[in-house]
Amino acid sequence: MIHHANWIGVVGGAVVVAAGLICLGVEDAKPAKKRILFYSESEDYRHSVVARPLTGELAFAEKELKEMATKAGYDVEFSQSYHDLADSKQFARYDAIVMYTSGNPKFNKQALFEFIRSGKALVGIHAATDTWRGEGEEFPKVIGAAFTTHGLTNAEKVTIKVEDRNHPATKMLGAEWVIADEIYQHNRFSRDRMHVLMSIDTAKTNLKPQKMEAGGDYPMAWTRQEGKGRVFYTALGHREDVWTNPTFREHLLGGLAWAMGLTDEK
Ligand SMILES: [Zn+2]
Repeated sequence: MIHHANWIGVVGGAVVVAAGLICLGVEDAKPAKKRILFYSESEDYRHSVVARPLTGELAFAEKELKEMATKAGYDVEFSQSYHDLADSKQFARYDAIVMYTSGNPKFNKQALFEFIRSGKALVGIHAATDTWRGEGEEFPKVIGAAFTTHGLTNAEKVTIKVEDRNHPATKMLGAEWVIADEIYQHNRFSRDRMHVLMSIDTAKTNLKPQKMEAGGDYPMAWTRQEGKGRVFYTALGHREDVWTNPTFREHLLGGLAWAMGLTDEK
């Protein structure tokens, strides 16, 4: 009862005390805030949205994520330094790692795999699939695919077909989503190992500037289960105006909530 006395001291009130004695599970009603790390070590191409100004302020996408995640009730931290993810103890601080990395980042890849497989969340945005592409098959398998190329323009709208309209990351989109961004293409993926949420509608997209073929399979967001953990990836997020787009923000927050197990959908 000492443990409960502490708890009663926090919330106070005789009625709550009585409820607490009857239903011991009541403490679970107020879970701790989820803590997210937005990690954007760029060892190859550094996207403008994750380039921090010399003044040391957060980068554009970091500021946007801070605003939306804070509003959603999460604690969010930021790093671009592999010293912050050098061992599993440092990972243990977080419920989700949001990756916007490129090239061969130096943070602890094995600790990341253990983190996810233990039941935590990985959210990959845009260049996350342009990461560790030449470092074996494990990372492409975990995140779901590897980047191959992108279109010649990032200013032309494409039509994205929403394949799963009930998922927390896509239920705000309707049947299709028309948006301009740098559109990634991937290989080393299999629809057997991922749940594709949305993909390019090649019948409704101007394919030439996207370097795409009619009937090609171009997934744009997907989910996976990895061990006990969840992976959500969205290929969007190159352009600044995508980050301020309310639909993209809902899409990203929905995927993040799902990956952390905060939604009913499996
Ligand atoms: Zn890009």
